[in-house]
Amino acid sequence: MRGAVLHAPGDVRLDTRDDPRIEHPTDAIIRIAATCVCGSDLWPYRGIEAVDGPAPMGHEYVGIIEEAGTDVTTLKPGQFVVGSFFASDNTCEICQAGYPSRCVHAELMGAIGTQAEYARIPLADGTLVATPAMPDEKFVPSLLAASDVLGTGWFAAVAAAVAPGKTVAVVGDGAVGLLGVLAARELGAERIIAFSRHESRQKLARELGATDVVTERGDDGAARVKDLTGGLGAHGVIEAVGTQESMMQAIRSTRPGGHVGYVGVSHDVTLPGDELFFSAVHLHGGPAPVRRFLPDLIDRILTGAIDPGTVFDLTLPLDQVAEGYKAMDERRAIKTLLQP
Ligand SMILES: [Zn+2]
Repeated sequence: MRGAVLHAPGDVRLDTRDDPRIEHPTDAIIRIAATCVCGSDLWPYRGIEAVDGPAPMGHEYVGIIEEAGTDVTTLKPGQFVVGSFFASDNTCEICQAGYPSRCVHAELMGAIGTQAEYARIPLADGTLVATPAMPDEKFVPSLLAASDVLGTGWFAAVAAAVAPGKTVAVVGDGAVGLLGVLAARELGAERIIAFSRHESRQKLARELGATDVVTERGDDGAARVKDLTGGLGAHGVIEAVGTQESMMQAIRSTRPGGHVGYVGVSHDVTLPGDELFFSAVHLHGGPAPVRRFLPDLIDRILTGAIDPGTVFDLTLPLDQVAEGYKAMDERRAIKTLLQP
């Protein structure tokens, strides 16, 4: 099969890879219907995260079951499925408590690489959620968004304790931040402040539910949020970047007793203990337990309540994967959808 492989920073190619096969009786093989490039794929692409030899890429996917292992009981060939970037059994204590991304049997889909024609899905019964019927083509981008960016933005909003009447600020105007705005709207936030200095992203943020846009960042950005909230700060803040500046911007934008939901993959972030102590904020985040939210998100998408697929502003055939990365790296595209 053909699949994307990162050979060195800036060098992603569509190579011929071995066809995946059932390795454990709990595996399924899916034919990928759509996949995409994640903001977190850009860390190794930019050389900020080490590339250890040629690495298969991609962890977001929707597809059709091609083959199911002998122990797979809930899925059968021909079903359309959505999964998250971690495979999970959905039965262990951690999964049952709502944290499948930290399942005791979790497997990272990025190591398998879903920017490809096919993929092996471990723990298929636990990992995959089938749609009730073959979805209309128009829903595919939104279902693909549920696989990561929507599920991650949604978790961030839940972790930020978004609820009716609350004011929420969103740090990060990438796909996760933008869908964090959508999640905050769906969860009833009264006021949603999006940090963004890019006109096209500000526009999309407003379409998704942002009521205010703040162009300042860092401490100036946090000061603007304080200005907009009577000097108190937001009730909840979504952090969707993962840098020192963005994390401190999130904490400093939050009022005492408020909640920070952080989902940007942390890169060299160090929190000052004394400031954290006196901030009196709740911090909750990490790799989003997307599988927890999938049944609800799939339902909202198929009933037309939400349309998160609008974050894909570039669609390319899989053989143009190099351009898909380049466009996101240069911020010409918010998010690239790839069609095998
Ligand atoms: Zn588990």
